[in-house]
Amino acid sequence: MLVLYCKRGMDIPVGKLGNFTFARGWYLYVGSAFGPGGVAARCRHHRQVSTHPRWHIDYLRAVCDLREVWFTHDPVPREHLWAKRLASKLKLQSPVHGFGASDCGCGSHLFFSAVKPNGKRFLALASRKYPAELPVYCEFV
Ligand SMILES: [Zn+2]
Repeated sequence: MLVLYCKRGMDIPVGKLGNFTFARGWYLYVGSAFGPGGVAARCRHHRQVSTHPRWHIDYLRAVCDLREVWFTHDPVPREHLWAKRLASKLKLQSPVHGFGASDCGCGSHLFFSAVKPNGKRFLALASRKYPAELPVYCEFV
């Protein structure tokens, strides 16, 4: 999960989804990293601004600061579970329907919070009910 902070509101294009207005505040994005290079390669990608945006998050990342990266090396995909928990347990709103969720049944993989999200609360939610999960790490960027 990426935690981004946008210093000001703005209108930006998000690939084929179209243009959207993003408010000032915090954005949480959950994704997977099962491609070549795994978690390390995906984190390297998101630490920089992509000159050729590939994923929806690349468009938002270009105008927001990356503050935290939460990840696990669990071979089981957790992105959809984490997205559901961000919506249902933390009651976070999805600013763009379909963001990062083009190929799954989640409404969105992007969530907004006007105040800084509580990392400890997320950690509890991410590992709850699955005590055998591999640890969830957090890197502050
Ligand atoms: Zn999903």
